[in-house]
Amino acid sequence: MNLFDLHCDTAGECFNQIIPLYDGGLHYNICKAEKLDKECRLFAIWIPDELRGKAAEEYFEKVLANFKNEILINNSKIKLCQGVPDLNEAENSGKCAAILTCEGASPFADNDGVYRAKECGVKLMTLTWNGENEIGYGCQSEVDSGLKPLGKHLLKDMEKLNIAADVSHLNRAGFFDAISSGAKVIASHSNSKTVLEKTRTDSEDKFFSCRRNLDDEQIKLLIERKSLIGINFCKSFLGDEGDDGFEAVYRHMAHILDMGGENVLAIGSDFDGCEINPELAGVDKMSAIEAFLLEKGFGKELTEKIFYKNAHNFFENVLQS
Ligand SMILES: [Zn+2]
Repeated sequence: MNLFDLHCDTAGECFNQIIPLYDGGLHYNICKAEKLDKECRLFAIWIPDELRGKAAEEYFEKVLANFKNEILINNSKIKLCQGVPDLNEAENSGKCAAILTCEGASPFADNDGVYRAKECGVKLMTLTWNGENEIGYGCQSEVDSGLKPLGKHLLKDMEKLNIAADVSHLNRAGFFDAISSGAKVIASHSNSKTVLEKTRTDSEDKFFSCRRNLDDEQIKLLIERKSLIGINFCKSFLGDEGDDGFEAVYRHMAHILDMGGENVLAIGSDFDGCEINPELAGVDKMSAIEAFLLEKGFGKELTEKIFYKNAHNFFENVLQS
């Protein structure tokens, strides 16, 4: 099968835990992905909310240097892609097409930041993490304001330089600011709030988990904008403990499909960034997830769109320039 995964935190975990990308015990490693036919993967460098300014830049650079070194060591299996020729070359030679993203825009939060991000090879920027940063407010920040002026400025540059904006983690008002900008916008790893509200009965962190997901108005706008919504495998964003495996993934997907999301639905596993039900916990589980969805009545053409084609079409466009 082919796979295009919109979000994982593997690059950061390889650095933080000193784990090899080839066969480390993470949700994602090169060996576990070996059975895939074509593979594209967005590798995020996650910036914790406590890191700002110079500290955020330095952390980003350290993780990136380590990641580039891992790619060099494994260059027969994985290629970092800057443009469409790289993407084609990686796919035609059976390598994982790696695309760099930054989760939390703090390393690039100044007037020329997007130009620096472009130089680093960043193709997608998640505007905030859960808290506040220089450009806006995350979904856990208790603030209802939209993006800060710097955030709006960065979005204009992102439109100009063709770096896509990721609204996963952003608060609701920020979401609407981003969607009404001219930048390409996706939600790389978020599920349906409506589905979670209906099915999640344990209250522990239901409120926060629901806010990490997208409400129907947001999903409708993303569909209208021909965006992408990557289904997140994080247990608490899928359902109750024990109801957070295959069936829950199906439920969230079916809701987005019912809303007309056939061409925006994708995978944003969040591998190595969260706790995941064993049914879903690893890139080697992907064929079993696909088999489950086929059994549920998703046709071959639809599963190919969800697992690969929708995201591939979108990022072919992003990598154009
Ligand atoms: Zn995340």
